[in-house]
Order: sequence, then structure tokens, then C-alpha cells
Amino acid sequence: MKDKRYSIFLDRDGVINKEINYLSNPDDFVLLEGVIDALKILKEKGYLLIVITNQAGIARGYFSEARLNQIHKKMNLILKKNKIFLDDIFFCPHHPMFTGICECRKPNPGMIIKAKEKYNIDLKKSYIVGDTLNDIKAGKNAGCKTVLVLTGHGIKEKKKLNEIKPDYIYKNLLEFAENIKFK
Ligand SMILES: [Mg+2]
Ligand SMILES: [Zn+2]
Repeated sequence: MKDKRYSIFLDRDGVINKEINYLSNPDDFVLLEGVIDALKILKEKGYLLIVITNQAGIARGYFSEARLNQIHKKMNLILKKNKIFLDDIFFCPHHPMFTGICECRKPNPGMIIKAKEKYNIDLKKSYIVGDTLNDIKAGKNAGCKTVLVLTGHGIKEKKKLNEIKPDYIYKNLLEFAENIKFK
């Protein structure tokens, strides 16, 4: 059997880029402070870098999948200029009100499970990093370690922690990358 790999599952909005409600214009894609350094550290530790993002704006008709691809092209270009390459991006284009229930929309673990099968990932030794409780729930549903960051919606979401607790809370992605005790 092939060796298992480890992954950092990254929520996009509010973790990598500035949270904007239904970001639909590549010009509005702004990287958060410290993300480049954080991703470099995580890559050097040998983790896969996999973005998993809910994009219900597609189901709502706010923007097309082609638009989303343009945004991701811009993200990849910025990262590439800094010699960082994401291993994959999974997105959920659905919304239960418009397209029915799906397996992929966080807090469901569908995107993580798909990535696990594609890359032979050991989920128990992998992390999900997100700024909302839905990210944390998705991680718990998949059996990952969970990290809430206080960028994006993080501070507001932290106040709701009585119902669900992340394994770690960090100020931002860089603080996570610098402080986590790996494996
Ligand atoms: Mg988010
Ligand atoms: Zn979905």
C-alpha cells in the first residue's frame, strides 16, 4: 500500500483572502497578511495544501463557475510569484435552497473525503483551518484536527464556541503554521 500523505485543508475566504460576501470579482481578491509565509512553512513540513471552499454564490446565480475559476487563477498566480503551489482546490457550488442537499457543502465532509481518496490522505494527522464553525464541523465530521483562525469571521464565530470546540485557535494562518506541533 502507498504511503499515506498529510494535508492542510484550507478554507479560502477569511483564511487565505480577505472575506468579502460572495467574492465574485478577481480584482477584489486580496491576500491576507502572512499567508505567503504560512504556506511556505506548511509546504516545507511536507503537507499537501488543499483549498476547500463553499461557493454558494454559484447556486444563487451571483457568479458563474467560470468567474470562480478566474478568481482561483488570480490566487494561483499570486502564490506562484511567491513560489507556492496549491496541490488542489475543491469547491462546493451548491446551496440547499437552490440546488438541494449535497455532500460537499461544509459542514458536510464531502470535499475532504474526495481529497482523501484522490491523494491517499491520513485524515487523523491532517488539519482543517477555517474561520467559521462550519469549517470546524466539516473537519470533525471528516476526522481531522481542527483549527479556528481569528481572521475573516473568526472573532465573531469564536463567541459561538459552546456548541463545538476546535482543537486549536490561532490569530491567523501564520500563527498556526509557526506554532503547531506537527505530527
Ligand atoms: Mg471562510
Ligand atoms: Zn455541494
